[in-house]
Amino acid sequence: MRKPFIAANWKMNHTLESSCQFLQELPKQLGKIPSTNIDIAICVPYIYIIPITQKLVSVNQENGYNVKIGAQNMHWEAKGAFTGEVSGPMLSDIACTYIILGHSERRTLFGETDEKVSKKAKAAFASGLMPIICVGETLAQRDSNETMGVIQSQLLGSLASLTPAQVEVSTIAYEPVWAIGTGRAATPAMAQEVHKMIREYIAKHYGESISQNIRIQYGGSVTPENALDLMAQPDIDGALIGGASLKADSLSKIIQATLAKKNLL
Ligand code: PEP
Repeated sequence: MRKPFIAANWKMNHTLESSCQFLQELPKQLGKIPSTNIDIAICVPYIYIIPITQKLVSVNQENGYNVKIGAQNMHWEAKGAFTGEVSGPMLSDIACTYIILGHSERRTLFGETDEKVSKKAKAAFASGLMPIICVGETLAQRDSNETMGVIQSQLLGSLASLTPAQVEVSTIAYEPVWAIGTGRAATPAMAQEVHKMIREYIAKHYGESISQNIRIQYGGSVTPENALDLMAQPDIDGALIGGASLKADSLSKIIQATLAKKNLL
């Protein structure tokens, strides 16, 4: 049984003050949950990692949570002349646990290629960070029936540098580009079809057991309303959430929906 994994991707949103308000509000909205049944991460802008981690210590302790912190990008080199970049060792140094790699916004706006994602994933493991590796097709690719081929090629390139044991503990986030931030989520059936294909791809390349253990999140306009049906799908193991993760109440509802649909409450 795979433990569900819900990750918030705050992107370039929130201030220090509104982040702290979010953390104050979280226990009020989330209430008591069986924390060991689900992994939860909040992936925040770099500069908020330290203050939010400090605040999370008491939020976790007082409520029995185990919410972890993630970052949204990193460089593949450990150090050097890379102005403006942040490395894996720097992130693990400040108690960051997860790292989102290859998000479609990074792929389209910042020239992130599968090769770079692969180098970053290897560097993430070298620093003890757990990667969330994003893949997803554009609308034009879906419309021309290229979805499966595009995803398989992204998986091939992005996982190239990892050992099978590293692949097993990585998270794949299936995020159709046309669904991110558009309010138009994939239907549960559409998402399940791609998740199943991703699991079959992993089985073919890394073996059945690894394919049964790897977690595959869905991302793209997840809301409290559509989370129930999405999380009911057998190959959807959680979600990577942008817009709806910015408010404690909507993130909490998605976490609760996930626990309910996976019979873990
Ligand atoms: C994302 O940024 O990963 C994402 C899925 O965003 P949204 O939930 O806003 O579509």
